[in-house]
Amino acid sequence: MFEKSTWIRLPRNVVVGHGVRSQVVDVVDDLHLQGRPLFVTSPTPREVAADPIAADFEAAGIEPAIVTIEKATFDAVERVIEVAEAEEASYLVGIGGGKAIDIAKLASHHLEMGFCSVPTAASHDGIVSNRGSVPDGDSRHSVAAEPPLAVVADTGILAEAPWELTTAGCADIISNYTAVMDWRLAQRLQDVEYSEYAAALSEMTAEILVDNADLIRPGLEESAWVVTKALMSSGVAMSIAGSSRPASGAEHLFSHQLDRLAPGAALHGHQVGVGSIMTAYLHQGADGIWRAIRDALASIDAPTTAAELGIDDETVIEALTTCHEIRDRYTILGSGMNERAARDVATKTGVID
Ligand SMILES: [Zn+2]
Repeated sequence: MFEKSTWIRLPRNVVVGHGVRSQVVDVVDDLHLQGRPLFVTSPTPREVAADPIAADFEAAGIEPAIVTIEKATFDAVERVIEVAEAEEASYLVGIGGGKAIDIAKLASHHLEMGFCSVPTAASHDGIVSNRGSVPDGDSRHSVAAEPPLAVVADTGILAEAPWELTTAGCADIISNYTAVMDWRLAQRLQDVEYSEYAAALSEMTAEILVDNADLIRPGLEESAWVVTKALMSSGVAMSIAGSSRPASGAEHLFSHQLDRLAPGAALHGHQVGVGSIMTAYLHQGADGIWRAIRDALASIDAPTTAAELGIDDETVIEALTTCHEIRDRYTILGSGMNERAARDVATKTGVID
């Protein structure tokens, strides 16, 4: 008997383009969201996006509540939940970089309310995905949540974000190559649940980005467009898979371990990019795709070495040899690398000297 079933949850409205910030109020109306929204934002995005959007809502006769968060922590999630209850909010709008959106996503999941995502930086695929990630003590937890009901990505605002946030978003997408290799390996060796459709979409997204690498230039609004669309389809791949597998393999384990060993040293996307160079080498050896990954990262100004990440060589080796322990996720790292093997791959790929 056929007993398989699956739920695919996707955003209903996705609006991308110049000046679409002013359409948030229409998007909410189209979704039939009633009552009072709570905007979850952080200081700079508040100025460039949340306050002007609040003015649009007021003009439409809706008075939004606003909460500004400084740091992505579980305390911040708690605070947003309290404010939402106190202000009798009926849905949330996350307006900001990864931080504000992750917090809004986790809070709305807890409150069982809908939320909309208004990214102001194209820094990682969390702006669309069904995963929320918040640091917890010395580690980072990725937890299941719901994807946003709508995503409104104003390329005018995104193009103004600090350039390294955009290159981090690109690197996060380029790492889909190795995430998918790890997923296929885990499927073959461990029979983990696998979706060919999600895997193909994730790989194609990385390919489109690499093919358009020459459009990724500072100050070019088209860059924001290319990257945002790629982040969306990467998020959709995760929603289809029902897991982060299509976009998160050993390179993400490596990055999560760097977050513990060298907190705040480098951006998530930049760390996974460097991790991806090395895990591609582990999958395919010297003649494989690792050079193409490294060259694509270099061409968009993303780091390709430990030094460019601002992380010392020994920390990279420690992360490589220990990161398989942090999560029960089968990858090319198997039951772990020893120090000599880690030094070998890091040296051969030029990540360390
Ligand atoms: Zn990522």
